[in-house]
Amino acid sequence: MSEKQNYRCGYVGLIGRPNVGKSTLLNHMIGQKISITSHKPQTTRHRILGIKTTDEAQFVFVDTPGMHQAGKHAMSRYLNRAAASTLNDVDVVIFLIEAVSFTDDDETVLSKLKTLDIPVILAINKVDRLADKERLLPFLAEISQKMNFAEVLPVSALKDINLREIEQAIIKHLPENAPFFDEDQITDRSVRFLAAEIIREKLTRTLHQELPYNLTVEIEQFKADEEQTLINAIIWVERANQKGIVIGKNGERLKEIGKQSRLDIAKLIEHRVHLELWVKVKEGWSDDERALHSLGYNDDLKS
Ligand code: GDP
Ligand code: MG
Repeated sequence: MSEKQNYRCGYVGLIGRPNVGKSTLLNHMIGQKISITSHKPQTTRHRILGIKTTDEAQFVFVDTPGMHQAGKHAMSRYLNRAAASTLNDVDVVIFLIEAVSFTDDDETVLSKLKTLDIPVILAINKVDRLADKERLLPFLAEISQKMNFAEVLPVSALKDINLREIEQAIIKHLPENAPFFDEDQITDRSVRFLAAEIIREKLTRTLHQELPYNLTVEIEQFKADEEQTLINAIIWVERANQKGIVIGKNGERLKEIGKQSRLDIAKLIEHRVHLELWVKVKEGWSDDERALHSLGYNDDLKS
């Protein structure tokens, strides 16, 4: 493929406030779940690359934690840094907002984008939820005034509406390059990392309490033989009472989390999975920059 003339390849930043659907869009563009999603803000904590290769182009999507107004926590600062640093080395940006509103957090993101000299494609997501489609046109007109967007597209990441159109819009702004990655590679992350993320997704989705920062997953063992892949994982919480919440009555919640995780991981690695989960307490880690580093929250400009 690399001998092909006019082949395009470049980096595409997915930018937007928490919860607009960046990770969902990435997964649906790639056709595989590589970035975890949930209805809770700040589900995505790491920068993750999703790679899509076609005959015409290779798209290297960069999923980021959502940008939001800076909070006091070390984790919150880390999330904003990760999102902002992405903007320094992408060829084009997909700026996601939700139909039909433009919030203060959207304004914060917009003001950052305006300072850059990168083409910005505005994707107005979740149009499938719009009962009154007539509200879309005036919204489109109003939003288009905010900045000189390369393109403005109403989309639904979840229902695959206009995703092909996004792809076509992106291609125009990708530089001519031979592909950076093998054509069958879909992410820069290891299966070990993806397994930890899947477990974190199930935790985030299962726990109804507000636990935005104080949960993390560490894979202690990841060992494959012919028959199955054995995975031991530790779920780190910050306080002893959270341990009980995660485990649930008679261990039922943890069992369910384990079951759902096992099924998703097995699908991802196409192998039988034996998963063991342990819950442990480590106090105050989300407020401690050093602890964040030890758990893999590094400022990874190039990973
Ligand atoms: P992120 O924080 O920007 O990465 O957002 P996520 O991808 O985690 O999505 C946040 C929530 O919005 C999840 O519950 C998704 O299922 C939901 N979502 C994302 N895209 C769409 C969409 O096009 N339509 C609808 N109805 N929901 C969506
Ligand atoms: Mg996300």
